[in-house]
Amino acid sequence: MNAPAKSSKYIRGESGDWEVVIGLEVHAQVVSKAKLFSGAATDFGAPPNSQVSFVDAGMPGMLPVINRRCVEQAIRTGLGLRAKINRVSVFDRKNYFYPDLPSGYQISQYKQPIVGEGEVIIDLPGGETATVGIERLHLEQDAGKSLHDQHADYSYVDLNRAGVALMEIVSRPDMRCADEAVAYLKKLRAILRYLGTCDGNMEEGSLRADVNVSVRRPGAELGTRCEIKNVNSLRFIAQAIEYESRRQIEIVESGGKVKQETRLFDSRAGETRSMRSKEEAHDYRYFPDPDLLPLELDAAWIKAIEASLPELPDEKKARFIKDYGLSAYDAGVIVAERELADYYEAMARGADAKLAANWLNNEILGRLNKQGLSIGDCPVSAEANHAIIAMTSDGTISGKIAKDLLDIVWSEGGDPRAVVEARALRQVTDTRAIEEAVERVIAANPDKVAQAKAKPKLAGWFVGQVMKETGGKANPQAVNAVLKARLELPEEG
Ligand code: ADP
Ligand code: MG
Repeated sequence: MNAPAKSSKYIRGESGDWEVVIGLEVHAQVVSKAKLFSGAATDFGAPPNSQVSFVDAGMPGMLPVINRRCVEQAIRTGLGLRAKINRVSVFDRKNYFYPDLPSGYQISQYKQPIVGEGEVIIDLPGGETATVGIERLHLEQDAGKSLHDQHADYSYVDLNRAGVALMEIVSRPDMRCADEAVAYLKKLRAILRYLGTCDGNMEEGSLRADVNVSVRRPGAELGTRCEIKNVNSLRFIAQAIEYESRRQIEIVESGGKVKQETRLFDSRAGETRSMRSKEEAHDYRYFPDPDLLPLELDAAWIKAIEASLPELPDEKKARFIKDYGLSAYDAGVIVAERELADYYEAMARGADAKLAANWLNNEILGRLNKQGLSIGDCPVSAEANHAIIAMTSDGTISGKIAKDLLDIVWSEGGDPRAVVEARALRQVTDTRAIEEAVERVIAANPDKVAQAKAKPKLAGWFVGQVMKETGGKANPQAVNAVLKARLELPEEG
């Protein structure tokens, strides 16, 4: 069940605490070569109006034919959201006028959607989780695009997107702060990507969210909501929620009432603005589309799709915690992307799994983030990293050299084991060589020896010097032991 909201999550107003309530309606573009009711292609970035069939153009007398692939993707997604698949669903006409909606209606699902109630487990900071309920998922057509900035005197219409299949995924109002809404969207996107049903690309508009926000006194009845349309990045969703909740609190605290309305988020000003009030809301005159029969699903087909589902993020996370001994946090970071999880497993198999997780999270992701790369672009293979970790674990190289080695392989390529041999990076565990280095350092710093004897903490300085002397290759434990004996320092403890 949903973890109860903590008081720290409440917003402190002039007159006491307020609780923010958030529900998301997400439009996810279905991964499919053809549209929902036509055979036209769906490639992103194609020349305007090059992927438009007569059905998409709203020509009179054309008959829509349902695309089995899109239905399969919706079922797959429903199963991935642990949701109820409705064996019978109905397509309705949602009537409204847009210049880029040539038929004058959108085919959607209203009272009988293909997928019913489900849930998404979201990962919160500190390894905690919470559950967000899913109300429904339905299939519908996307509209085309109007372009107003291409010509001084004309607007252009591009119908390439008209008729592309969307899944509208509606959450329950279960989120209580911007972080939870962002965590929900991240998790939903991860699930869709694992399933291969939506590419989750927010910049290309494959995933867009309408954000519903209301405020109330902690535990009170739901307040009046405002819906912020089409927010297209995680950062903007967080900003829109922060702004909108504060706006509503101010209204109520100054004696006013929140009006139910549709708003838009202006990312430049960082604020939400009214688009239309509830009174101006469209009456879509929904009715079952007479061109389409109710959609009836075969139970065996649903079973077959279920059997083909991949291991999903939550299952993978549980397995990583159990099999590799990872913390919930580390496991959560690694399973967020399927490719990252695969990379981790290729790296961790037969190695120190925790060391591998730290290595991946700190060294690899650190370097990738700095360069703005994703794991797919990582210049060092999982196998090469496996070798570096294995050499660290068995003492062939020190932890410090491991990082240098990674830098070398990162920029120059090469097999890490060969690089270690070619550049003589092996860790010096040979006590004689370390003793010689210690003698050289002591001989060069007689004054420091006396100081270290009086103040054993100074021994650390000697360790540093000996490491320098050996080019970072000495085994630090061995250096410590030799130094202690040589300087006659007391055992720690
Ligand atoms: P509509 O279709 O008119 O937008 P829905 O009842 O389908 O209305 O709700 C849409 C979204 O609004 C859902 O995601 C739901 O969780 C959310 N929602 C409903 N009531 C509230 C509320 N009081 N505060 C915040 N979100 C809400
Ligand atoms: Mg809505």
